Amino acid sequence: MANQINAFEMAQRQFDHVAELLNLDPQVSEILRWPLREFSFRIPVRMDDGSVRVFQGFRVQHNDARGPNKGGIRFHPAETIDTVRALATWMTWKCAVADIPLGGGKGGIILDPATLSNSEKERLVRGWVQVMWRNIGPRQDVPAPDVGTTPQMMAWMMDEYSKLVGAYTPGTITGKPLGGGGSLGRTEATGYGVIYTVREAMKYLKMDPAKCTAAIQGFGNVSQYAAIGFNEILKGKVICVSFYDREDKVSYTVSKADGIDPHFLMTITDQYGSIDKAKAKAAGYAIEDGGEWIKKDVDVLIPAALEGQINNETVNLIAPRVKIVAEGANGPTTPDADEVLKAKNIFVIPDFLCNAGGVTVSYFEGVQNDMNYYWTKEEVLEKLDTKMTIAFQGVLDMSLNRKVFMRDAAYMVAIDRVVKAMQLRGWV
Ligand code: NAD
Repeated sequence: MANQINAFEMAQRQFDHVAELLNLDPQVSEILRWPLREFSFRIPVRMDDGSVRVFQGFRVQHNDARGPNKGGIRFHPAETIDTVRALATWMTWKCAVADIPLGGGKGGIILDPATLSNSEKERLVRGWVQVMWRNIGPRQDVPAPDVGTTPQMMAWMMDEYSKLVGAYTPGTITGKPLGGGGSLGRTEATGYGVIYTVREAMKYLKMDPAKCTAAIQGFGNVSQYAAIGFNEILKGKVICVSFYDREDKVSYTVSKADGIDPHFLMTITDQYGSIDKAKAKAAGYAIEDGGEWIKKDVDVLIPAALEGQINNETVNLIAPRVKIVAEGANGPTTPDADEVLKAKNIFVIPDFLCNAGGVTVSYFEGVQNDMNYYWTKEEVLEKLDTKMTIAFQGVLDMSLNRKVFMRDAAYMVAIDRVVKAMQLRGWV
């Protein structure tokens, strides 16, 4: 399924729509429609065979009125300045809606990570820091892992930054490995956060989680823990996940009508998210076309792979039984498809609320780095649950009070908070 629309145009359209609803001062809108700062740069890297390859890197800092910019670094072959702008913008709204004192940033490198060895990846991410180190840091901009990047890479980046500034500075980057300044619970954070919001939505919609089923797109960090959480926290049943097969260059849906076992599927998934189809089949799973997940007769759909997946072409494939779309991925629904979801009366948990668990625990990681004192996993997940529940309730209240769609309500909560910080700081 191709991405139907430029992601940044989509982010601006969503913002413009809510700016109009809020009757926002055009001067304020002019600041918030665009990132405050953008960096576009080339990174030459020595390859293992002695040649030099040059990579295109980006960092976008959308708005830091509420605190240092925060957001992941993606390795993706189709990365563009516009995808990074869109994701940086959503990070501003995400941090604000989760009420954590951070702004919005995002970074990327145009790259298929599977084409590099580990030592080439290390030189590449150290090169990224050598370009950006004056413009990142615990009080400026705090990167993190995202699609295609790993905790190990974050440890290399933190090390490079610490060497350049001459001081151990773990809080300059989050998503670090345990023992290297990372936080317990970060791996589970985004997926479990999705599930805490689904639980709250089910309470509101008076659904019994134990009787509910879900179909999930993706089987990476977010989707794996969303699947585990749906089964183990809600006691519901996930009946399929999907993944992109690197060898066949297509996506597949892996399903089992009586419920998938995400722990088993994780044992047959490689580091890039490809599931061993033969082993899955042998264990009784059906292997279907990658687009099948969206057609499943389930209560909850969780798109947790890429942007633009619920679009004009796919939205009408959604089964009448579906009551909740929980957006684990960033920007999985196009604005046109949103209108169809509204018409179908499907309750949408919008991306920057639904997947805010990752950045929330990233924030907790920075807090622990600053304190130099580390919490247990139970403490982290409990604090995460509290934050996600309060954030969900704030958006639901706004949606009910103003009689607006959940996405618009999330924007209203977030924009209000960012504008207030800009006013208090005298920017507007
Ligand atoms: P990941 O790289 O761990 O996993 C991505 C998954 O998507 C893989 O299983 C891959 O096979 C699958 N995929 C890729 N293309 C596909 C296709 N065409 N059809 C079906 N599956 C496909 O990435 P992730 O960290 O799980 O992130 C997923 C989404 O969630 C992204 O939109 C990301 O920006 C967003 N997100 C991630 C975090 C986080 O903490 N990891 C936080 C917030 C938002």
